[in-house]
Amino acid sequence: MSTAQSLSGQCLCGTVKISGEFKAAHVGACHCDMCRRWAGGPFMVVESAGELQLDGGAAIGRYASSDWAERGFCNNCGSVLFYRLTGNNTHFVSTGLFADQSNLALDHQTFIDEKPPWYSFANKTRDLTGEELFAAFAPPE
Ligand SMILES: [Zn+2]
Ligand SMILES: [Zn+2]
Repeated sequence: MSTAQSLSGQCLCGTVKISGEFKAAHVGACHCDMCRRWAGGPFMVVESAGELQLDGGAAIGRYASSDWAERGFCNNCGSVLFYRLTGNNTHFVSTGLFADQSNLALDHQTFIDEKPPWYSFANKTRDLTGEELFAAFAPPE
């Protein structure tokens, strides 16, 4: 269903460059405490649809924020780069990196239950609580 689109972008200082195929029309915004603490606000991401080309890899810092995911950032300028599910190597890349934003569309919001009350997006989106998100992705028992 979701058609992948080619996107390329870079961090603030330009050391790290990221390109590949992404589900551009399915941007997600995560409001969880961890994403907001890390990204400074809701973390807006596009999901990779295949292998990513990552240039400047030595400059990519990685922080294991849970048993199943790590967060990548630029060691030089501090730009937030991606959230990566280590189990299946899926990258959720920060929308802010991409030069061409014309094909991006906000599709869903996660951890809507952790969103602080002082802001709300006007976009019509599919909203999931943290519990609903884990239920959607947990393997059936
Ligand atoms: Zn940088
Ligand atoms: Zn989050």
